[in-house]
Amino acid sequence: AKNKGRGSVSWFTSDMVHSVVENFEVESLLERALNQDMFRLFLQPKVCQRGAARHFEVLLRIEHEERGIISPEEFIDIAESTGMILPIGTWILEEAARLLSQHQDLHVSVNVSVQQLLQENFVRDLACILQSYRFDPSHLTLEMTESLMIANFDLALAQLHDIRALNVRLSIDDFGTGYSALIYLKQLPLDELKIDKTFIAGIPHEANATSLVEFIIAMARHLNLIVVAEGVETEEQVKWLRSRGCDCLQGFLFGKPQRATDYLDELN
Ligand code: C2E
Ligand code: CA
Ligand code: CA
Ligand code: CA
Repeated sequence: AKNKGRGSVSWFTSDMVHSVVENFEVESLLERALNQDMFRLFLQPKVCQRGAARHFEVLLRIEHEERGIISPEEFIDIAESTGMILPIGTWILEEAARLLSQHQDLHVSVNVSVQQLLQENFVRDLACILQSYRFDPSHLTLEMTESLMIANFDLALAQLHDIRALNVRLSIDDFGTGYSALIYLKQLPLDELKIDKTFIAGIPHEANATSLVEFIIAMARHLNLIVVAEGVETEEQVKWLRSRGCDCLQGFLFGKPQRATDYLDELN
Protein backbone atom coordinates (compact mmCIF):
# COMPACT_ATOMS: atom_id res chain seq x y z
CA ALA A 1 0.00 0.00 0.00
CA LYS A 2 1.07 3.57 -0.64
CA ASN A 3 0.77 5.77 2.40
CA LYS A 4 -0.80 9.08 1.51
CA GLY A 5 -0.53 10.48 5.04
CA ARG A 6 -2.47 9.89 8.20
CA GLY A 7 -5.67 7.93 7.89
CA SER A 8 -5.54 7.62 4.11
CA VAL A 9 -4.00 4.51 2.64
CA SER A 10 -4.55 3.70 -1.01
CA TRP A 11 -3.84 0.32 -2.52
CA PHE A 12 -2.27 -0.34 -5.87
CA THR A 13 -5.08 -0.79 -8.32
CA SER A 14 -5.42 -4.05 -10.21
CA ASP A 15 -4.47 -2.07 -13.33
CA MET A 16 -1.12 -1.18 -11.79
CA VAL A 17 -0.44 -4.77 -10.74
CA HIS A 18 -1.47 -5.91 -14.21
CA SER A 19 0.96 -3.52 -15.89
CA VAL A 20 3.84 -4.51 -13.59
CA VAL A 21 3.26 -8.15 -14.49
CA GLU A 22 2.94 -7.25 -18.17
CA ASN A 23 6.16 -5.25 -18.17
CA PHE A 24 7.95 -8.13 -16.53
CA GLU A 25 6.64 -10.50 -19.18
CA VAL A 26 7.76 -8.23 -22.01
CA GLU A 27 11.17 -7.88 -20.42
CA SER A 28 11.68 -11.62 -20.26
CA LEU A 29 10.38 -11.95 -23.83
CA LEU A 30 13.03 -9.43 -24.96
CA GLU A 31 15.80 -11.34 -23.20
CA ARG A 32 14.67 -14.61 -24.71
CA ALA A 33 14.33 -13.01 -28.16
CA LEU A 34 17.96 -11.85 -27.99
CA ASN A 35 19.32 -15.15 -26.67
CA GLN A 36 17.27 -17.38 -28.93
CA ASP A 37 17.52 -15.41 -32.15
CA MET A 38 13.83 -14.43 -32.40
CA PHE A 39 14.34 -10.84 -33.63
CA ARG A 40 13.73 -10.25 -37.33
CA LEU A 41 14.52 -7.27 -39.53
CA PHE A 42 11.53 -6.37 -41.69
CA LEU A 43 12.00 -3.96 -44.60
CA GLN A 44 9.66 -1.34 -46.02
CA PRO A 45 10.44 0.31 -49.37
CA LYS A 46 11.16 4.02 -49.52
CA VAL A 47 10.51 5.39 -53.01
CA CYS A 48 12.72 8.28 -54.09
CA GLN A 49 12.38 10.45 -57.21
CA ARG A 50 15.88 10.24 -58.58
CA GLY A 51 18.16 7.32 -59.10
CA ALA A 52 17.52 3.62 -59.31
CA ALA A 53 18.88 2.85 -55.86
CA ARG A 54 16.85 0.56 -53.66
CA HIS A 55 15.97 2.20 -50.34
CA PHE A 56 14.32 0.50 -47.38
CA GLU A 57 13.57 1.27 -43.74
CA VAL A 58 14.44 -1.47 -41.28
CA LEU A 59 11.57 -2.22 -38.86
CA LEU A 60 12.05 -4.63 -35.98
CA ARG A 61 9.79 -7.61 -35.23
CA ILE A 62 9.87 -10.62 -32.91
CA GLU A 63 8.98 -13.97 -34.42
CA HIS A 64 7.30 -15.94 -31.67
CA GLU A 65 6.70 -19.68 -31.90
CA GLU A 66 3.09 -19.37 -30.64
CA ARG A 67 2.10 -15.75 -31.13
CA GLY A 68 3.57 -15.30 -34.61
CA ILE A 69 5.00 -11.91 -35.56
CA ILE A 70 5.03 -9.40 -32.69
CA SER A 71 5.03 -5.67 -33.49
CA PRO A 72 7.49 -3.20 -31.90
CA GLU A 73 4.51 -1.27 -30.51
CA GLU A 74 4.22 -4.09 -27.98
CA PHE A 75 7.82 -4.00 -26.80
CA ILE A 76 9.82 -0.95 -27.90
CA ASP A 77 8.84 1.29 -24.94
CA ILE A 78 9.83 -1.39 -22.47
CA ALA A 79 13.04 -2.07 -24.37
CA GLU A 80 13.85 1.63 -23.89
CA SER A 81 12.85 1.93 -20.24
CA THR A 82 14.80 -1.20 -19.24
CA GLY A 83 17.90 -0.39 -21.28
CA MET A 84 17.43 -3.60 -23.31
CA ILE A 85 17.35 -1.33 -26.38
CA LEU A 86 21.15 -1.07 -26.11
CA PRO A 87 22.06 -4.70 -26.87
CA ILE A 88 19.05 -5.00 -29.20
CA GLY A 89 20.11 -1.83 -31.03
CA THR A 90 23.64 -3.15 -31.52
CA TRP A 91 22.23 -6.37 -32.93
CA ILE A 92 20.00 -4.42 -35.37
CA LEU A 93 22.90 -2.29 -36.61
CA GLU A 94 25.06 -5.32 -37.16
CA GLU A 95 22.33 -7.18 -39.07
CA ALA A 96 21.66 -4.09 -41.21
CA ALA A 97 25.39 -3.82 -41.92
CA ARG A 98 25.41 -7.48 -42.96
CA LEU A 99 22.58 -6.82 -45.45
CA LEU A 100 24.42 -3.79 -46.85
CA SER A 101 27.62 -5.77 -47.28
CA GLN A 102 25.71 -8.49 -49.15
CA HIS A 103 23.86 -6.07 -51.46
CA GLN A 104 26.14 -3.26 -52.58
CA ASP A 105 23.33 -1.31 -54.34
CA LEU A 106 21.12 -1.30 -51.25
CA HIS A 107 20.41 1.72 -48.99
CA VAL A 108 18.81 1.23 -45.57
CA SER A 109 17.52 3.44 -42.79
CA VAL A 110 17.75 2.12 -39.23
CA ASN A 111 15.81 3.52 -36.27
CA VAL A 112 18.13 4.43 -33.40
CA SER A 113 16.74 5.34 -30.00
CA VAL A 114 18.11 8.53 -28.52
CA GLN A 115 19.20 6.49 -25.52
CA GLN A 116 21.54 4.57 -27.83
CA LEU A 117 22.85 7.76 -29.41
CA LEU A 118 23.70 9.22 -25.99
CA GLN A 119 25.87 6.23 -25.02
CA GLU A 120 29.48 7.25 -24.94
CA ASN A 121 30.66 4.22 -26.93
CA PHE A 122 27.94 4.43 -29.59
CA VAL A 123 30.14 6.01 -32.27
CA ARG A 124 33.07 3.69 -31.58
CA ASP A 125 30.78 0.64 -31.87
CA LEU A 126 29.34 2.01 -35.10
CA ALA A 127 32.84 2.57 -36.51
CA CYS A 128 33.73 -1.06 -35.62
CA ILE A 129 30.65 -2.32 -37.46
CA LEU A 130 31.58 -0.24 -40.52
CA GLN A 131 35.02 -1.82 -40.46
CA SER A 132 33.84 -5.40 -40.09
CA TYR A 133 31.17 -5.23 -42.81
CA ARG A 134 32.35 -3.64 -46.01
CA PHE A 135 29.91 -1.26 -47.68
CA ASP A 136 29.60 2.42 -48.55
CA PRO A 137 28.71 4.08 -45.17
CA SER A 138 26.56 6.64 -47.00
CA HIS A 139 24.18 3.76 -47.78
CA LEU A 140 23.30 3.67 -44.07
CA THR A 141 20.94 6.30 -42.60
CA LEU A 142 20.18 6.55 -38.89
CA GLU A 143 16.68 7.78 -38.00
CA MET A 144 16.15 9.47 -34.65
CA THR A 145 13.40 11.51 -33.01
CA GLU A 146 14.24 15.00 -31.90
CA SER A 147 12.65 15.45 -28.48
CA LEU A 148 15.13 13.70 -26.18
CA MET A 149 17.92 14.98 -28.35
CA ILE A 150 17.08 18.53 -27.45
CA ALA A 151 17.02 17.66 -23.75
CA ASN A 152 20.66 16.52 -24.07
CA PHE A 153 21.63 18.87 -26.81
CA ASP A 154 25.41 19.26 -26.39
CA LEU A 155 26.09 15.55 -26.12
CA ALA A 156 23.69 14.70 -28.94
CA LEU A 157 25.25 17.33 -31.18
CA ALA A 158 28.78 16.02 -30.54
CA GLN A 159 27.68 12.45 -31.29
CA LEU A 160 25.91 13.48 -34.49
CA HIS A 161 29.03 15.26 -35.74
CA ASP A 162 31.14 12.17 -35.04
CA ILE A 163 28.63 9.97 -36.88
CA ARG A 164 28.59 12.34 -39.84
CA ALA A 165 32.40 12.15 -39.93
CA LEU A 166 31.98 8.42 -40.63
CA ASN A 167 29.87 9.35 -43.71
CA VAL A 168 26.75 7.76 -42.24
CA ARG A 169 23.57 9.75 -43.02
CA LEU A 170 21.28 11.25 -40.38
CA SER A 171 17.51 11.66 -40.43
CA ILE A 172 15.02 13.20 -38.00
CA ASP A 173 12.04 10.87 -37.59
CA ASP A 174 8.42 11.67 -36.67
CA PHE A 175 9.06 15.28 -37.55
CA GLY A 176 6.35 17.63 -36.35
CA THR A 177 5.30 15.57 -33.32
CA GLY A 178 8.04 16.61 -30.88
CA TYR A 179 9.27 19.98 -29.75
CA SER A 180 10.79 20.73 -33.14
CA ALA A 181 12.53 23.82 -31.80
CA LEU A 182 13.74 25.23 -35.08
CA ILE A 183 16.67 27.02 -33.52
CA TYR A 184 18.07 23.63 -32.45
CA LEU A 185 17.17 21.88 -35.65
CA LYS A 186 19.24 24.33 -37.64
CA GLN A 187 22.36 23.41 -35.67
CA LEU A 188 22.07 19.64 -36.15
CA PRO A 189 24.16 18.08 -38.95
CA LEU A 190 21.24 16.41 -40.74
CA ASP A 191 20.64 14.98 -44.20
CA GLU A 192 16.95 14.18 -44.05
CA LEU A 193 13.68 15.00 -42.38
CA LYS A 194 10.79 12.53 -42.13
CA ILE A 195 7.27 13.92 -41.84
CA ASP A 196 5.20 11.91 -39.38
CA LYS A 197 2.39 9.79 -40.78
CA THR A 198 -0.25 11.49 -38.62
CA PHE A 199 0.16 14.60 -40.82
CA ILE A 200 0.29 12.64 -44.06
CA ALA A 201 -3.03 11.03 -43.07
CA GLY A 202 -4.69 14.47 -43.29
CA ILE A 203 -3.58 15.09 -46.88
CA PRO A 204 -5.14 16.50 -49.03
CA HIS A 205 -8.39 17.27 -47.18
CA GLU A 206 -7.43 18.65 -43.77
CA ALA A 207 -6.29 22.26 -43.84
CA ASN A 208 -4.15 21.94 -40.70
CA ALA A 209 -2.25 18.97 -42.07
CA THR A 210 -1.73 20.43 -45.54
CA SER A 211 -0.41 23.76 -44.31
CA LEU A 212 1.89 22.09 -41.80
CA VAL A 213 3.27 19.69 -44.42
CA GLU A 214 3.78 22.56 -46.88
CA PHE A 215 5.64 24.45 -44.18
CA ILE A 216 7.85 21.45 -43.33
CA ILE A 217 8.73 20.90 -47.00
CA ALA A 218 9.63 24.59 -47.43
CA MET A 219 11.75 24.53 -44.29
CA ALA A 220 13.53 21.35 -45.40
CA ARG A 221 14.32 23.04 -48.74
CA HIS A 222 15.70 26.02 -46.89
CA LEU A 223 17.91 23.79 -44.69
CA ASN A 224 18.92 21.74 -47.73
CA LEU A 225 17.46 18.50 -46.37
CA ILE A 226 15.84 15.58 -48.18
CA VAL A 227 12.15 15.32 -47.22
CA VAL A 228 10.49 11.94 -46.73
CA ALA A 229 6.77 11.39 -46.18
CA GLU A 230 5.85 8.27 -44.19
CA GLY A 231 2.46 6.56 -44.07
CA VAL A 232 1.52 7.23 -47.71
CA GLU A 233 -1.59 5.16 -48.43
CA THR A 234 -3.37 6.78 -51.41
CA GLU A 235 -2.62 7.97 -54.97
CA GLU A 236 -4.13 11.30 -54.00
CA GLN A 237 -1.43 11.75 -51.36
CA VAL A 238 1.27 10.77 -53.87
CA LYS A 239 0.08 13.39 -56.36
CA TRP A 240 -0.16 16.09 -53.72
CA LEU A 241 3.24 15.32 -52.16
CA ARG A 242 5.07 15.02 -55.50
CA SER A 243 3.63 18.28 -56.82
CA ARG A 244 4.98 20.01 -53.73
CA GLY A 245 8.45 18.58 -54.12
CA CYS A 246 8.56 15.89 -51.45
CA ASP A 247 11.67 13.83 -52.32
CA CYS A 248 10.82 10.35 -51.02
CA LEU A 249 7.60 8.52 -50.18
CA GLN A 250 7.03 5.55 -47.94
CA GLY A 251 3.84 3.75 -46.97
CA PHE A 252 1.53 0.80 -47.43
CA LEU A 253 0.69 2.01 -50.97
CA PHE A 254 4.24 1.12 -52.06
CA GLY A 255 4.76 -1.85 -49.79
CA LYS A 256 4.17 -3.09 -46.27
CA PRO A 257 7.01 -4.01 -43.99
CA GLN A 258 8.01 -7.56 -44.96
CA ARG A 259 10.76 -10.02 -44.23
CA ALA A 260 14.06 -8.96 -45.80
CA THR A 261 13.98 -12.17 -47.86
CA ASP A 262 10.69 -11.07 -49.48
CA TYR A 263 12.34 -7.97 -50.95
CA LEU A 264 15.95 -9.07 -51.50
CA ASP A 265 17.29 -12.04 -53.38
CA GLU A 266 18.45 -14.87 -51.19
CA LEU A 267 22.22 -15.10 -51.18
CA ASN A 268 23.86 -18.46 -51.50
P1 C2E B 1 8.48 4.70 -37.07
O1 C2E B 1 9.97 4.68 -37.11
O2 C2E B 1 7.82 6.02 -37.18
O3 C2E B 1 8.01 3.69 -38.20
C1 C2E B 1 6.88 3.88 -39.01
C2 C2E B 1 5.74 2.97 -38.60
O4 C2E B 1 4.65 3.21 -39.49
C3 C2E B 1 6.06 1.49 -38.71
O5 C2E B 1 5.38 0.83 -37.65
C4 C2E B 1 5.44 1.13 -40.07
O6 C2E B 1 5.10 -0.23 -40.18
C5 C2E B 1 4.22 1.99 -40.06
N1 C2E B 1 3.76 2.30 -41.40
C6 C2E B 1 4.48 2.30 -42.55
N2 C2E B 1 3.71 2.65 -43.60
C7 C2E B 1 2.49 2.91 -43.11
C8 C2E B 1 1.24 3.32 -43.72
O7 C2E B 1 1.14 3.53 -44.91
N3 C2E B 1 0.19 3.50 -42.87
C9 C2E B 1 0.26 3.27 -41.53
N4 C2E B 1 -0.82 3.45 -40.79
N5 C2E B 1 1.41 2.86 -40.93
C10 C2E B 1 2.50 2.69 -41.72
P2 C2E B 1 6.09 -0.33 -36.81
O8 C2E B 1 6.91 -1.19 -37.71
O9 C2E B 1 5.03 -0.98 -35.99
O10 C2E B 1 7.08 0.46 -35.87
C11 C2E B 1 6.58 1.31 -34.87
C12 C2E B 1 7.68 2.11 -34.24
O11 C2E B 1 8.55 1.26 -33.50
C13 C2E B 1 8.57 2.83 -35.24
O12 C2E B 1 7.96 4.02 -35.69
C14 C2E B 1 9.81 3.06 -34.40
O13 C2E B 1 9.64 4.20 -33.59
C15 C2E B 1 9.85 1.81 -33.55
N6 C2E B 1 10.78 0.85 -34.14
C16 C2E B 1 10.59 -0.05 -35.12
N7 C2E B 1 11.71 -0.73 -35.41
C17 C2E B 1 12.67 -0.22 -34.59
C18 C2E B 1 14.08 -0.46 -34.41
O14 C2E B 1 14.71 -1.28 -35.10
N8 C2E B 1 14.74 0.27 -33.45
C19 C2E B 1 14.09 1.22 -32.70
N9 C2E B 1 14.80 1.91 -31.77
N10 C2E B 1 12.78 1.49 -32.85
C20 C2E B 1 12.07 0.79 -33.78
CA1 CA C 1 11.45 5.50 -38.55
CA1 CA D 1 6.58 7.96 -37.49
CA1 CA E 1 8.54 6.59 -33.98
